[in-house]
Amino acid sequence: MPPIHLASTYVQPKLGQHKGYEYSRTQNPTREMLERNLAALEGATNGLAFASGMAATDAVLSLFDTGSHIICGENVYGGTHRMMTQIFKRRGLDFTFVDSRDLDKVDDAITFKTKLVYVETPSNPMMHLTDIAALAELVRDRGLTLVVDNTFATPYFQKPIELGAELVIHSTTKYINGHSDVIGGAVATTRGDLTERMAFYQNAAGAVPSPMDCWLTLRGVKTLPVRMRQHDASGREIAAWLTKHPAIQKVHYPGLPDHPQHELACRQMSGFGGMISVDTGSFENARTLVESTRIFSLAESLGGVESLIGHPATMTHAGVPAEMREKMGLTEGLVRLSVGIEDTQDLIQDLDRALQAAASQ
Ligand code: PLP
Repeated sequence: MPPIHLASTYVQPKLGQHKGYEYSRTQNPTREMLERNLAALEGATNGLAFASGMAATDAVLSLFDTGSHIICGENVYGGTHRMMTQIFKRRGLDFTFVDSRDLDKVDDAITFKTKLVYVETPSNPMMHLTDIAALAELVRDRGLTLVVDNTFATPYFQKPIELGAELVIHSTTKYINGHSDVIGGAVATTRGDLTERMAFYQNAAGAVPSPMDCWLTLRGVKTLPVRMRQHDASGREIAAWLTKHPAIQKVHYPGLPDHPQHELACRQMSGFGGMISVDTGSFENARTLVESTRIFSLAESLGGVESLIGHPATMTHAGVPAEMREKMGLTEGLVRLSVGIEDTQDLIQDLDRALQAAASQ
């Protein structure tokens, strides 16, 4: 088992000499093991681990100088939108949010100041997909950089770097760790120059994960394939069951044959995972559903072995302006499910009982 190197500092034999490690904000052996592991999983050459998914996003956005323009998919995690519009905009970066399902819209948004295209696919919580290979080609032709947040799919089901992206972001808090007991983030990349600059930033800004968290995340990674297979199997079954339920108006799950991007999902993903969003029709229906389940716990976050249920409009995406939420279909009646690895039939019964409560209110 990899050791947990708790040392904050390392004895130096002579002034100006060290044995590879000086100070744990700069390098730590346990963190390096996690960084190498995540880089390998993503087919990248380098990995950098951070104290949270947001710290990973911060490191990527910090690569760009005042005056740079960044195009972002309009449906991203609410915290990503908040960081862009409330932190980096003040520092002089300019953002355009576009529906990246339509690559013409991305192309139209490119200006001579554009440096980066940032997408989440599948997106949180609308399960919208972006064609990574086609976007990577467009971005390459224009001399830009593409970053994909691969948190929902994980490298087990989707490999953005093989599809042409140069940077991949993770909230390792989610599926990578998988046990809802660590907050962490990572960037994997094939670009040595960007790695050097982000490693400088990682050390200078200091949002590094603890060795214990790195070790826990490495332990979580060991079961990633078995967990993802179970999330996927239950996700498919539950999504199909939900489509037939009279209390559900719409199911957003790329594994469903009637998902508008199902063909793309089959092309760029080898599984669809355990994230499902459903439209219950109203805020009241959504509230009754999220407050009535017993196995699905009402909580922020996703990707753990335990099933979670949430209400994006008031929870994860509360910071996104209402008109933007509406435009992308993120209604007040939308409920997001993170299907865990419990028994599938138990989960279906739990949802059935809670949906009956919603219907009889
Ligand atoms: N990316 C996605 C897709 C997320 O869902 C989240 C958090 O929910 C993040 C990034 C941010 O990660 P963290 O909460 O680890 O900072």
